[in-house]
Amino acid sequence: MDRKVYFDNVATTRTDSDVLKTYKDLLDKHYCNSDALYDDAVTISNMMERSRENIAKLLNVEKEEVIFTSGASEANSLAIKGLCLRNKDKKHIISTIYEHSSAYNALRQLEDDFGYDVTYLMPGKDGKIDPEEVRKNLRPDTILVSIMLVNNEIGAVNDIDEIKKIVKKHSGTYFHSDITQGLGKIDIDLKDVDMASFSAHKIHGLKGSGVLIRKKHVELLPLINGGQQEYGIRGGTANALVDIVLAKTLRMALERQKESYRHIEELNAYFREQIKEVKGVSINLDNGIANLINISTPIESEVLLNALNAKGIMVSSKSTCGSKKNEPNRALKALGIDDDHAIRVSFDYENTKEEIDHFISCLKEDIDKYARV
Ligand code: PMP
Repeated sequence: MDRKVYFDNVATTRTDSDVLKTYKDLLDKHYCNSDALYDDAVTISNMMERSRENIAKLLNVEKEEVIFTSGASEANSLAIKGLCLRNKDKKHIISTIYEHSSAYNALRQLEDDFGYDVTYLMPGKDGKIDPEEVRKNLRPDTILVSIMLVNNEIGAVNDIDEIKKIVKKHSGTYFHSDITQGLGKIDIDLKDVDMASFSAHKIHGLKGSGVLIRKKHVELLPLINGGQQEYGIRGGTANALVDIVLAKTLRMALERQKESYRHIEELNAYFREQIKEVKGVSINLDNGIANLINISTPIESEVLLNALNAKGIMVSSKSTCGSKKNEPNRALKALGIDDDHAIRVSFDYENTKEEIDHFISCLKEDIDKYARV
């Protein structure tokens, strides 16, 4: 079996070769601590600040609002816990049942260990959070509304433009969004979004690299204590070279966004057409983000995953972060979908219709072999 088909682009993407080359070139030349005062260190620090500035320009925010982190998990933790623990006079939070585990478990921690009260909104049949539900649940003591842009299990796209308008009218409440799965796919307007998290490795960048956009008026309690790094909000010697290549990663993702998303939409339509031919398989959501399709099959997902893996096809069942813990899939459960029979197929601009044909033919074989339909 030589052939590999990678349909797990929501879990991570292949590192772009240009990004990798830039990173390797930098690694060859630079090793100084970016906070040191000699010339070689200042060179790195200047490159890092240029990267921060470029990221800010690309996202229409200010340079000081870009906080480098180790990824979206850290950015989510910092946004949620950092904000709430800095502003302890209000202890109510509105979020959703299907946030990524990094956000969800930060919320659970605030409830269990710090006495916060969290309202977890449920998605409607369309997989989305109804902005009206946000309005209804706001209270005088609501400190934070944290709602993801695109759900990483089911692909629902939330109307964060509408949600942020509602939150903005409610003074003293902040709005955070995990934009990890929407960035580089759909347009995002960060005006009136107080904080936003994302990760480089979902847009063909390096692992261990991400950003929290934190608007200037938002005060956060640092979770990693240290010195002056990241405006005193996130301590530790900067992962400067990784931070430097993030600007390039983001620029390339945004430059190719339109064209690559058009291609992904074609793949999505083709997949939906072809899957109709497969007995006992249904698609779990229409009108989600085009690069993610969640399907239910007659085979237990773990069995199917292994069977496909044996044929070189990589897809996932539970979100990769919960895949080894056997945690229930909160997104699927909320929609009444049996998470033991669902798999997530996720495309990228590099995938082809021919790969979909191969996937469909392997899926048919496996269903014939393992399922009783
Ligand atoms: N948020 C979402 C929506 C994600 O899909 C992921 C990645 N699984 C994360 C956060 C965590 O990102 P990272 O791997 O950079 O910590």
